[in-house]
Amino acid sequence: MERTDSYRHKGLRKRLVQELMKKRIVDKAVLQAIGNVPRHLFLESSFISFAYQDKAFPIGAGQTISQPYTVALQSQLLELKPDDKILEVGTGSGYQAAVLLEMGIKLFSIERQSELYQRSTRLLRSLGYQGRFFLGDGYEGLPAHAPFDKIIVTAGAPVIPRDLLVQLKIGGIMVIPLGDKRQVLTRIVRLAEDDFEQEEIEACAFVPMLNGVVGR
Ligand code: SAH
Repeated sequence: MERTDSYRHKGLRKRLVQELMKKRIVDKAVLQAIGNVPRHLFLESSFISFAYQDKAFPIGAGQTISQPYTVALQSQLLELKPDDKILEVGTGSGYQAAVLLEMGIKLFSIERQSELYQRSTRLLRSLGYQGRFFLGDGYEGLPAHAPFDKIIVTAGAPVIPRDLLVQLKIGGIMVIPLGDKRQVLTRIVRLAEDDFEQEEIEACAFVPMLNGVVGR
């Protein structure tokens, strides 16, 4: 069963979507995207049978695929519109990227670990997802492609990276877990050139956002 998408997987996804609705995920486009992305293909084979539980799992290189609830919540907080241009920091397994791409946005995603960058780019391409993927340090963002309508950071940042704030459009939204070991999921709206509104959403736990590129 494992490397294909079967009716069984689709059924499990439906149940996952219902679970997320109970957890106050209300954005229909987000729920539909979660219902469409075959999450089991983003996991290592030993975890495949747990793919539709609302849990995070290891993906190699000491990293994790985010919990579906977290992916859904971050996506919902971005208030996505089709054609939004989005920067994702931390491609990881590529699952969050796939959910965003299902929603018809333009995605630029950056990952610092070469092993994950290569594996997730290959997988996303093989599934037909058309994003732009970069090996690099997300603290620097992608100045050549800025500004972005939305920025999603999927690793815990000790402070708000300045370069990312600068790459956000006026009126744009950034969702970022802020803090060291545990974080607070935070939404930042750029109201004007030098005016940022910051709202704390809820506690969360991500792997840390680290400096530099590994394994180039
Ligand atoms: N969005 C991912 C979550 C992966 S976990 C998913 O859906 O699977 C966070 C990822 O952020 C890890 O792969 C980690 O290597 C990466 N990361 C950490 N610091 C980073 C940085 N400075 N730049 C880019 N990626 C970073």
